Amino acid sequence: MENRNFLVLDGGLGSALIRAGFDIDEDPLWGGKVLIENPDAVKTIHKRYVILSGRKYEANHISGSLDCTLTLKQSAKKIIFTVTIEGLCQHYDLNQSEAVSLIYKAVKIARDACDEVSSTNVGCQEKLLVAGSVGPYGACLHDRSEYTGDYVDSMTVQELMDWHRPRIDALLQAGVDMLAMETIPAQKEAEALVQLLKEFPSAKAWLTLSCRDGSHTCHGEMFSDVVQNVVRQSTQVVAVGVNCTFPLYVKPLLQSIKGKVDLPFVVYPNSGEMLKDGTMDSSRKVQLHSLVDGWIEAGAVWIGGCCLTKPEDIVKIREVVDKHR
Ligand SMILES: [Zn+2]
Repeated sequence: MENRNFLVLDGGLGSALIRAGFDIDEDPLWGGKVLIENPDAVKTIHKRYVILSGRKYEANHISGSLDCTLTLKQSAKKIIFTVTIEGLCQHYDLNQSEAVSLIYKAVKIARDACDEVSSTNVGCQEKLLVAGSVGPYGACLHDRSEYTGDYVDSMTVQELMDWHRPRIDALLQAGVDMLAMETIPAQKEAEALVQLLKEFPSAKAWLTLSCRDGSHTCHGEMFSDVVQNVVRQSTQVVAVGVNCTFPLYVKPLLQSIKGKVDLPFVVYPNSGEMLKDGTMDSSRKVQLHSLVDGWIEAGAVWIGGCCLTKPEDIVKIREVVDKHR
């Protein structure tokens, strides 16, 4: 087996907040209010994911072993994806600098969660990664258009860049290890992001698209064309793949770029319960871990879960990933 540097990513944060008893459905930024009013709740969920996605942690912790040098191997954390500078100003009545401060705070909470877990896990020498989420423009429209990408038809690349710039700037200033340019439904927005990335030459990012079937983005372009296009345009994209997509589409999507793109593939589909318009059908839930071998065979290296996935799903995913390390 080739030696690949597998990463286990976390799962859904918003759904974890709901299970923790927060009513975030009425919150226009879907969890942003908890960040302001109850940051410890966000940190607790981050910590839970860090612990569960880190291999060997639990066993070593329970046994009190001191020689766990590879524990918590390179897990990554995302922060709340719907939070934008503009959204914070509009919905929470913050000014620009208060909104930027809240982004800093979100990053610090994720970093603190990593540090606190590392410090209680004696011998841990691996660095945990904090990835700053850069979700699609459509999420700010509150009309479910992030699930279709239709808004790009009436926007220019420049307009998309202008909208994405302040949050990316704030996330990088706050010290994230990389950007997670995620749930991007359309080629135009992907191109806007890789172009914008050039304004921040030291920044690294992964780019994951949301897809409507086993070969097309949600907006309808060929997934393999989009990925090859953007990778050609950027040396700052360090991994590419798919997220927030029906799990059974992941393997054919990865197979369509295998051998064509020389980057690690990153995958974190939703639980399967989410329909194309963002509504739910719990009968469609998929056992993600049962698909992980197939994703790895198709080239996946960074693996986690998106909407409606739970910490328990990440534990099972990690167990499968560990067999391939
Ligand atoms: Zn999602």
